[in-house]
Amino acid sequence: MIMKFKERKNTMKQKRPYESEGVKEMKMEVELIGITVPVPFSSTSNEYNSESVLATAGRTCYQSFDKQSEKSDISLIKHFCLFGHYSVLEHCSATFRIMGGSRTFTHQLVRHRHQGISQESQRYCDEGNFGYVIPRSIKAKGMTSMYSEVINDIRRAYIMLQKAGIKNEDARFLLPNAVCSEIVISPNFAELRHMFRLRLTTHAQWEIRECFRQILEIMITYAPNVFKDIYEQYKEYGNLNNFK
Ligand SMILES: Cc1cc2nc3c(=O)[nH]c(=O)nc-3n(C[C@H](O)[C@H](O)[C@H](O)COP(=O)(O)OP(=O)(O)OC[C@H]3O[C@@H](n4cnc5c(N)ncnc54)[C@H](O)[C@@H]3O)c2cc1C
Repeated sequence: MIMKFKERKNTMKQKRPYESEGVKEMKMEVELIGITVPVPFSSTSNEYNSESVLATAGRTCYQSFDKQSEKSDISLIKHFCLFGHYSVLEHCSATFRIMGGSRTFTHQLVRHRHQGISQESQRYCDEGNFGYVIPRSIKAKGMTSMYSEVINDIRRAYIMLQKAGIKNEDARFLLPNAVCSEIVISPNFAELRHMFRLRLTTHAQWEIRECFRQILEIMITYAPNVFKDIYEQYKEYGNLNNFK
């Protein structure tokens, strides 16, 4: 069923702090907002399921539609993942809205080149009430209030520049790496597997690890056979350090 714009609008959460709130600590939140599904009741599919798009693409390679069944499609998809037949996985992509991540985090995320990216603009948006991230290590050392004071000083200076007529695009030079930056990404499934491999190891930074942990929890529901091997290893070890 297609949702009318009015209904859809009410489901979209505004995550930037409002005018009256001042600066505010934020937490990472990943939301799936789109995913590739087949045209329903086409010649090869009668369901809304990303994996059936992959099966159609894969069966095209071998012209094996006569062998198609739910069970054989699952084996086929697992085969593609295992043997690196990744061009098939590129036919599906997912779109995630990521809120509460710092600019430090998004700078790492945008280094992945095979994905669509749209990010909150610091030129256009007023950052006078920016959200920010406090690393757990700083909290553990009891240094949160010093940290927050510096953040608040930056906010005051930012507003001072604005009041002096400086545009947002120049006032933003004061903003810290901790500032939150909302971002939407659309990687395909092949790129997602690659990103999981890099960003779910203990070598990756904690924020980007948390982002991909949440993405994996989402993807295991929507494309279980594409991400099962990754998910199982992650659940067992809490990382993908030894994932082959
Ligand atoms: C733990 C860790 C630490 C890092 N530290 C740093 C750092 O200190 N400094 C820094 O600058 N970066 C750092 N990075 C970022 C890293 O160098 C990559 O830019 C980032 O991980 C993106 O991954 P990627 O290049 O594999 O590929 P993506 O952009 O995700 O592309 C996927 C794959 O496509 C292929 N590909 C894409 N584009 C090309 C191309 N132009 N030519 C050939 N093949 C291509 C490659 O096989 C690539 O692996 C770090 C990453 C990690 C995970």
